[in-house]
Amino acid sequence: MTILVVTEHKNAELRKPALEALGEARRIADQNGGKVIALIMGSGVDSLKDIPARYGADAVLVADAPALAHPHPEACRDAILLAVRKTGAGIVLFPATGAGQDVASRVAAGLDAGLASDCLALHVDGDTFEAERSLFAGKIIARVALKSGIRIATLRPNVFPVCEADSSKSAQVEILEIPAASSRMTLREIRPGAGAKTDITEADVVVTGGRGMKSPENFKLLEDLADALGGVVGATRAAVDAGWRPQSEQVGQTGKTVSPVLYLLFGASGSIQHWAGMSGARCIVAVNKDPAAPILEKADYGIVGDLFEVVPALTEAVRKIRG
Ligand SMILES: Cc1cc2nc3c(=O)[nH]c(=O)nc-3n(C[C@H](O)[C@H](O)[C@H](O)COP(=O)(O)OP(=O)(O)OC[C@H]3O[C@@H](n4cnc5c(N)ncnc54)[C@H](O)[C@@H]3O)c2cc1C
Repeated sequence: MTILVVTEHKNAELRKPALEALGEARRIADQNGGKVIALIMGSGVDSLKDIPARYGADAVLVADAPALAHPHPEACRDAILLAVRKTGAGIVLFPATGAGQDVASRVAAGLDAGLASDCLALHVDGDTFEAERSLFAGKIIARVALKSGIRIATLRPNVFPVCEADSSKSAQVEILEIPAASSRMTLREIRPGAGAKTDITEADVVVTGGRGMKSPENFKLLEDLADALGGVVGATRAAVDAGWRPQSEQVGQTGKTVSPVLYLLFGASGSIQHWAGMSGARCIVAVNKDPAAPILEKADYGIVGDLFEVVPALTEAVRKIRG
């Protein structure tokens, strides 16, 4: 069994969701007697080639070409199709990031392969490949079986554990030759979003504000708390629609799905659409001045109180503890 992991990188590091995909591939390979191959795509990415071995890869394929300098979906798809053919991979794993979801579907179409997206767990036993997926805004977990020859899955960030880094490990590195690009699509410009440096889907701590924040300026309170906790700021759709926060920070059914260790929610009612994006958080703390707010029934910890009193007190307490 050969498992190909399509990695992503940023600032000369593999992104955490890619390390998580490598960790899951390692677990499956160990259980089934298989091999993990990491694919690195980009331009000038030679410095990354030693990283995958530390996180579970047996071998590394490097596709280094100008056409891959940016995550161009068609160029990436073509490189991945080449990698699948070269390695004979039967399983292909992607991080369920925006780019991963985009390219995975193109690769699945190109290979006529089954695709399970945004998976919460994988169960692979010999020829059996099953994936757990959250459906209907998190109301049910479906266990789907892929029956195709090649099986593809994208893995929700912050759900799968990363292997403990082992710098003594090394992997065989091969170059994947990429022919000159012949895409019908031209990437003209990439504009960085206005959101935080760490994407909220990758953060361990998310501090979210809703309509109860009352103004964009008041989000400074949440930024301070997020800084103290080493987290990032998120927003409900009400706060995004009001123009208080960028769309890249929206959590929920029409925003992003997050699975942090800690999710703090201030001045938000806990609508089903918001819950759909954050119910996978390991610990949910909500602060609402209305004791009947639905979120207070669902949260692990609820505080009935005025966020404008609670947030500064929390920030101060965290700063004291963390020195
Ligand atoms: C198709 C569809 C998709 C949607 N997708 C999303 C989505 O992706 N994400 C999302 O978030 N929403 C989404 N929504 C919108 C969703 O239905 C809710 O309208 C929205 O989540 C409400 O945001 P909120 O909780 O910030 O605001 P509200 O529901 O207005 O809640 C504000 C809360 O703040 C509390 N509050 C006010 N002042 C204070 C204070 N000083 N201290 C403490 N608490 C205070 C109030 O008691 C209240 O409970 C979607 C809706 C639809 C129809």
